[in-house]
Amino acid sequence: MAQNNSGRKKPNILVTGTPGTGKTTTSSFLAEATQLRHINVGDLVRDKKLHDGWDEQLDCHVINEDLVCDELEEMMEEGGNIVDYHGCDFFPERWFDHVVVLQTENSVLYDRLSKRGYTGAKLTNNIECEIFQVLLEEAKDSYPDDIVVALRSDTIDDINRNVATLTDWVRNWCPKPE
Ligand code: ADP
Ligand code: MN
Repeated sequence: MAQNNSGRKKPNILVTGTPGTGKTTTSSFLAEATQLRHINVGDLVRDKKLHDGWDEQLDCHVINEDLVCDELEEMMEEGGNIVDYHGCDFFPERWFDHVVVLQTENSVLYDRLSKRGYTGAKLTNNIECEIFQVLLEEAKDSYPDDIVVALRSDTIDDINRNVATLTDWVRNWCPKPE
């Protein structure tokens, strides 16, 4: 595989999945356990204005993918990042050593997103996104099969187990010889 983890001393992990599946919760626990850097791409887009305005229909920022990738490039080359975002097809393939897709049972996700204040099309779009495994397909289309894993995220126990599994993965990762 070309340019895989070229020269990184620490791995980069992508944590993706439908909104509400637990990416930010999982990533922040994992960052605490591993001392890797948690990058919440949604927050970064908002704080650094890496967007082309607001999409009234989808009720979210129109992310500028080029600006986001430019912003992240240096940190990703350095390694040691946990990237948290509900999309993954626009990041360079060479950035990631491990791609985690979180998945949540539909009724559980429905309750979480309702609690977050999602209603109408925004709520149903996200539930459909989960039912049709859109993020898992996107991850499989964008990264080598052997680095993509789907992890269940229905309960707190799931989070604890996922963080433990991923912490082990980080500890066992070693840079490939150049
Ligand atoms: P995301 O970043 O994927 O949108 P969050 O981490 O913000 O998701 O989680 C959304 C909400 O759901 C939070 O209130 C969080 O505490 C809860 N949550 C997420 N994952 C789980 C889980 N596996 N078990 C129980 N609650 C969860
Ligand atoms: Mn989040």
